[in-house]
Amino acid sequence: MSSEISGSKMSVRSKSDLIDKVFDAITTSGEEGIFQTELCKSFSLDSRDGSRLVGNLEKQSLITREKALYNGRWTYKLIVKKSIPIDIVEQKPIDLSTVEGAPCICCPSQHLCSIEDESNPISPAKCQIIEEWVTTSFNKFMVIQQTDLI
Ligand code: SF4
Repeated sequence: MSSEISGSKMSVRSKSDLIDKVFDAITTSGEEGIFQTELCKSFSLDSRDGSRLVGNLEKQSLITREKALYNGRWTYKLIVKKSIPIDIVEQKPIDLSTVEGAPCICCPSQHLCSIEDESNPISPAKCQIIEEWVTTSFNKFMVIQQTDLI
């Protein structure tokens, strides 16, 4: 086991720094990615610790691991996941039209309303108010659809 990560003297901060550095290395490799074997070598990690570390990044959905051959041995190709640039996300308008006028937003029984327990008398499945709202919204939607077709 490599002393780099498994040593009991290593602080949480140091482990976190190491994870950051490993992630930076994967990010720097771009779309080509980097072989797990190469990565372990450059950080002096044994395969078990290396695997745990990149598994951690994979669990956080930061990277993908694809099985690949490297120098005749199976390893993984580590590739950073593409993320949507924040400025594009911010440009997308949020469509609130589907929940516009929803009675639940200002319902005084909201804190008691649940779908978890079927015996609960206050739930969307038994609620007259939500049923009427859905029916009215659906009818409005149909009228708009028909008007658009004319
Ligand atoms: S489903 Fe009915 S009872 Fe439940 S929060 Fe919505 S309006 Fe209130």
